[in-house]
Amino acid sequence: MHFLAEHPLCMCPACDAGKSRVTAATVVDHIRPHRGDLTLFWDETNWQAMAKPCHDRKTATEDSRFARRKSCI
Ligand SMILES: [Zn+2]
Repeated sequence: MHFLAEHPLCMCPACDAGKSRVTAATVVDHIRPHRGDLTLFWDETNWQAMAKPCHDRKTATEDSRFARRKSCI
């Protein structure tokens, strides 16, 4: 995917696009979770390159937060 060719390094806060830690990006993450919203899904300003392990960590945090919020309703 060309986005990763332009952004080869993980942009997560821990890696900071190679400033804090050089990690090769392997997936494109949505900064704001799209949750099926196609406008958000295709919005390139909502994309960031991430390494798979960093992405998994972020998703796990978001999912648990979402699950907690859902259980409050
Ligand atoms: Zn990272």
